[in-house]
Amino acid sequence: MDIKVEQGCPQCGAPVILSEDDRLLTCPYCGVKNFLQSSSVFRYVLPDKLDETEKRHLVYAPYIRLKSNLFHITEKGIAYKVIDTTQLGFIMPGLPPSLGMRPQAMKIGRLTPKTEGRFLRLSVKAKVILEKAVQLSRLSNDLGRELLHQAYIGDTLSLMYLPLLAGETHLFDAVTDTPLISLNKIREYSLQGPGFNPRWQVQFLPTLCPRCGWDLEGEKDCLVPTCRNCETAWEITDQGLQRLDWFVQPGDRETPLHLPFWRISGEIPSLEIHSFADFIRRANLPMIPRPKWHEQEMQFWIPAFKLRPKIFLQTARQATIGHHRLHLEQGRNTPNLFPVNLPKTEARQAIKVVLAACATSPRNIFPYLPNARIKNVHASLAYLPFRDKGHDWVQPQTGVVIAKNILRFGRTL
Ligand SMILES: [Zn+2]
Ligand SMILES: [Zn+2]
Repeated sequence: MDIKVEQGCPQCGAPVILSEDDRLLTCPYCGVKNFLQSSSVFRYVLPDKLDETEKRHLVYAPYIRLKSNLFHITEKGIAYKVIDTTQLGFIMPGLPPSLGMRPQAMKIGRLTPKTEGRFLRLSVKAKVILEKAVQLSRLSNDLGRELLHQAYIGDTLSLMYLPLLAGETHLFDAVTDTPLISLNKIREYSLQGPGFNPRWQVQFLPTLCPRCGWDLEGEKDCLVPTCRNCETAWEITDQGLQRLDWFVQPGDRETPLHLPFWRISGEIPSLEIHSFADFIRRANLPMIPRPKWHEQEMQFWIPAFKLRPKIFLQTARQATIGHHRLHLEQGRNTPNLFPVNLPKTEARQAIKVVLAACATSPRNIFPYLPNARIKNVHASLAYLPFRDKGHDWVQPQTGVVIAKNILRFGRTL
């Protein structure tokens, strides 16, 4: 489910409509460009129908919005599920347990210092909502079995507030102006809470290269914009723009697309995986390690763009096993770089799941997952060229194949 958010331009105040995952705001009126950054989760509000004098009496009920791919490993194998839900985070009778499709059907705003009223505190943890979603899914069939590893990858966690107004006898939903419950029935619940907290405010970062001052490039949802002038790549993090090591596998004239991968090196001592050769032996892959692979650090290649769980694992597996055929060069701007929209922190969460997906002999790996820790981690970004083969995008060196209809193509390539 995609939601649209109305965001005021920090320069001229004009309303700009963004998608939930967008991090670049380009104002169509004054032309100013900014990256959005927040030190806590993004907070949204459903539009109320009140006039200005009534707004300060509003009380906001928090809903936890979660989008995530859940991976669940038992001795039986790897199961997965896409979670997309908006559930009540303040337990009180009368409030709808979920916002359902409402956020999609209306213009959502962002909380700002101008949002008057009181905010009810969360009384439910996001983790509990995730666990509930898991229990409702077919994954619960596996729960009798020993859970060896569980990972949530590609999470979007945000808060969405439903405005409420206490009338004389009833509590009202201020979006639809309908009564929810008699105030008598919720007498023991406090409808108090703090006002807007400045920490919740979204920050706007200039889109200039911190190294040379040139305009950074990247599409709306891109988390790693690049500089064409000094050939650097910058990750948008909670602490602002941070420089990344990046690489590119040169393509040729047949290359209409470059897809980004997180290249995460590290060792897993408890599984005796230090080098690429160790990994091949441990995963029991049908390959003979070349002598130099004993010296080569283990690297996990995780897609840096969002994919459905099954394709995500297939792609990571193929790239991790086949990356030894690549000859990477220092990163540089190349036409058609697909935007990075899966953060590095999420890719790190995927390592054990990708390791499990690579195993030809699960018993060599699965039982050791609960205690496996990855050490000496270093992450960089690498862009790989893909060729157009009819219905598929094909990566010639690693053999990664991605069906065209899977990548979101509102983009021009
Ligand atoms: Zn503007
Ligand atoms: Zn630069």
